Amino acid sequence: MKAFLRYEKQILFAPIGVNGQKKLSKSRVGIVGAGALGTHLANTCARSGVGSLIIIDYDKVELSNLQRQILFDESDVGSQKASRAAEKLSAINSEVQIEAFNETLSAANFRDIFKNCDLILDATDNFDTRFVINQLSLSCGIPWIYSGVTASSGQSLLIIPHKTACLRCLIPEGDYPKNFPTVHNSGIISTVVSAIAAITATSAIKYLTGAVAEQNLIYFDVWEQTLKKIYIERNSACPTCSANFKE
Ligand SMILES: [Zn+2]
Repeated sequence: MKAFLRYEKQILFAPIGVNGQKKLSKSRVGIVGAGALGTHLANTCARSGVGSLIIIDYDKVELSNLQRQILFDESDVGSQKASRAAEKLSAINSEVQIEAFNETLSAANFRDIFKNCDLILDATDNFDTRFVINQLSLSCGIPWIYSGVTASSGQSLLIIPHKTACLRCLIPEGDYPKNFPTVHNSGIISTVVSAIAAITATSAIKYLTGAVAEQNLIYFDVWEQTLKKIYIERNSACPTCSANFKE
């Protein structure tokens, strides 16, 4: 099919095929954050032919971001990340509809920005925003993928509202990870970003094309080269998702 010439190798991959490619081209994906994970995820989604991307990030590009934020170069330092990423993505694939919001995601703007999204990808660096995504994705019925990277390890978990465990099932209130290692106190190597982004983007492509997506939490440490799959059980008393709890 001529329209999909760009994706011929991906279509040759049997689990995707022409039907999967058509589903990707009709998909609308929100990405929260245009930093390390966000630029990798957006790059993969655009090259893979996801039809619409919505990207939100309030921040500007700094020199120290260039080590791991794949869409930016030296000339971008000082630019708004979301709108600059959108320009780069349009040059990579002009068929993709891209909307950029140079602002902070909050409960106030979530619905306006992500309405009609099929999937939201978390590429933030903080749990405050992740719990906003968790709460509102559940109330809007939009699946999302939690991703996080620090130092040499990271994790990825697909969360389907009222079907799988949510982020609050994984991290109960009171276990708020204030003392968790962060990029700011533990640093990060760029290869863990590529690795976790690859795991998350693969889950996204599987989900969007109708394949059975991985529902375990995937933990991967690129330095130690250890990978774990951890089943996260739903908490029937979860304050966020238990209202509609169904076995
Ligand atoms: Zn829950």
